[in-house]
Amino acid sequence: MDSMAAPARKPVTPSTLPPTSVLMRRALMKKCPVCGRGNVFASHFHMNRECPSCHVTFWKDPGESLGAMYVDYAVATIAFLVAWFILDYTTNLSDAMQVAIVAPIAVASILAFYPISRSIWTVLVYISGGIEKPRMRAIRGGKAL
Ligand SMILES: [Zn+2]
Repeated sequence: MDSMAAPARKPVTPSTLPPTSVLMRRALMKKCPVCGRGNVFASHFHMNRECPSCHVTFWKDPGESLGAMYVDYAVATIAFLVAWFILDYTTNLSDAMQVAIVAPIAVASILAFYPISRSIWTVLVYISGGIEKPRMRAIRGGKAL
């Protein structure tokens, strides 16, 4: 083995990630999965491109929004089933009337959980290694770090 080989780059593996409970809390609090300080969202529907605290880019690939739709689909399905279950066991409404009530509830759940579903997807992108820490930038006149 060559002892003069350059040290290998430290890969992002599950052992270097924060514990799952910390990542879940950061997702639900809509905080950056990397540092836990910066907000993922600037407002309810406006996602920050990068973390305001540690400056990692959350979604480098524009196709990531398609992945977040999987989480939206899960949220809508759960809302649909729970609302339908409650209506079916507490009322005598027709099936058509139940669907007319439950469908807007499913759509509203997607809008209500929009930031949380994107934040959950951001954590999944981070776990899969899709978020990299930003490179160190050289500052003219500064000391090398
Ligand atoms: Zn951050």
